[in-house]
Amino acid sequence: MTAVLNQTWDLDVFFRGGSSSPELLAQLDQVERDLADLMEEARNLTARPEDWVGFLDRLQGAVERFSEAASFVYCLMSQDVRDRQAVVLFGRVQQSAAAVRSINAVMEGRIKTFADDEWQALVSHPRLAPVAFALNESRRRAADQMETSRELLANDLAVDGYHAYETLYTTVVGRITIPFDGKELSVGQAYNRFSDPDRAVRQALFARWEEAWAKEADLIAHALNHLAGFRLGLYRHRGWQSVLKEPLELNRMRQETLEAMWSAVASARPALRRFLDRKARLIGAERLAWYDLDAPVNQATRNVSYDEAAAFIEEQFRQFSPRMADFAAHAFRSRWLEVEDRPHKAPGGYCTSFPRSKVSRIFMTFSGDPGGVSTIAHELGHAYHSSLMFDLPFLVQNYAMNVAETASTFAELIVSSAAIRSAASREEKVALLGGRLDNAVALLMNINARFLFETRFYERRAKGLLSVAELNALMEEAQREAYADGLGVYHPLFWASKGHFYGTDQPFYNFPYTFGFLFSAGVYARSMAEGPAFEERYAALLRDTGRMTTEELAQRHLGADLTRPEFWEDALSVVLDDVKEFLRLTAE
Ligand SMILES: [Zn+2]
Repeated sequence: MTAVLNQTWDLDVFFRGGSSSPELLAQLDQVERDLADLMEEARNLTARPEDWVGFLDRLQGAVERFSEAASFVYCLMSQDVRDRQAVVLFGRVQQSAAAVRSINAVMEGRIKTFADDEWQALVSHPRLAPVAFALNESRRRAADQMETSRELLANDLAVDGYHAYETLYTTVVGRITIPFDGKELSVGQAYNRFSDPDRAVRQALFARWEEAWAKEADLIAHALNHLAGFRLGLYRHRGWQSVLKEPLELNRMRQETLEAMWSAVASARPALRRFLDRKARLIGAERLAWYDLDAPVNQATRNVSYDEAAAFIEEQFRQFSPRMADFAAHAFRSRWLEVEDRPHKAPGGYCTSFPRSKVSRIFMTFSGDPGGVSTIAHELGHAYHSSLMFDLPFLVQNYAMNVAETASTFAELIVSSAAIRSAASREEKVALLGGRLDNAVALLMNINARFLFETRFYERRAKGLLSVAELNALMEEAQREAYADGLGVYHPLFWASKGHFYGTDQPFYNFPYTFGFLFSAGVYARSMAEGPAFEERYAALLRDTGRMTTEELAQRHLGADLTRPEFWEDALSVVLDDVKEFLRLTAE
């Protein structure tokens, strides 16, 4: 790479003039009119396939125009948090998003009224067959619900019941402050300090952290108990037996797959325990504590420039897939990335797509550390995934959370493996491997503890309310099991400090993370074994993520049976190799 890369993105190609763009305003007006028309059309949908072909074509156009404008506004807000006009536009975008959801709900309502033979004729129509997977899924989901009037009532009551407990939780968290170092830290600020290299800092902070959560524990336990009670009550009225039914369906996976995954994870605990013990020794602790889990083992990593990072990523992608490398090079040159380190940018990073232009944009702040290089690779993985799906109907572009991170984690694995191989010193190699293993511990042990806790909590909650003491005991028991008794200090109030237990959109917001991590590791293990021939199969797999169950996806593209332990064991071998290498390098 010769020319110096631009570190800011190009948004003018979509709409000229930022948040005061006349083209953008015209597009938002158009979207609002189109969605209102489509709502009328949705209400009157008959089972005639011709009705649906026309309706879905028009909906496709409207959704693409909407997404293009929504992504643009979102990009404006994150590149400069002071852009008030962008915030106003975001309000309009959110209203259109709600309109799209309502159209979907009405469409699903129509779908369940059709007779079976009408339905078969509909989904086998040549223009509708490509989206049959999504249509069938909607019809199955509708069939499992109560009659429409009762579902509507439940939805209405949920606003001030179910969802209100989630808001109550975020309100309580918002007012918590943690006194530390003469300052009052917010929960987010305090959490970030747990990666402080000084153990005494982390230990002192953790004491304040637990105190702060203990103070609000009664109120938070109330929210958790009643949110769960609402959920269980709703499931009972729908006749659903298992609390896992909803999250498994959202992730398009079977219970057997979940069980096979967790039992493989359990078998990896002894090896991960050896890593925890070694890390403890390296940081001078007898046993590792909860607050040591994110702490670095040493400070030996180097920083790189953005141009070096881009060249490194392109080179590493190329060894696996020339197609992916060309894609990355194009993204860097065409200013798809906003990475500049400057004030007034929003925190965090993401990748968002522009379906009409069929391109993506990546937002982050790059400061040169190895984590930043991984993040660029991660977000490029998302962009690559989108690029393979842009020409599909939007109904089959929706992938579930558990496969959403396949391409991103895979890209990250390629780049972090290369960084470890090309480390300048043994110390640096140890630091990079340690960071990657900390992440594996989070996904295989921490997430496992959350799942164990949540499963047991719902079982007990079906019989009655749980006290703070009972919740603490249940959490510590889950942590001891998941961490193979590897820690000296646990975090019993984790049920209060982790927001994911309070989400109402995606119940059990835990196992999809572990699934995604191991699914990508499995794909990575397969790509290492097959070499360049894997490139095309990998692209085909990503393309199908919105129109197959996860079991079908693995069977079709990897020849793997996710309900059997073998695939998961192959995936875990990627982590276990890291453990072996880490233990060897630090053996003294
Ligand atoms: Zn991601």
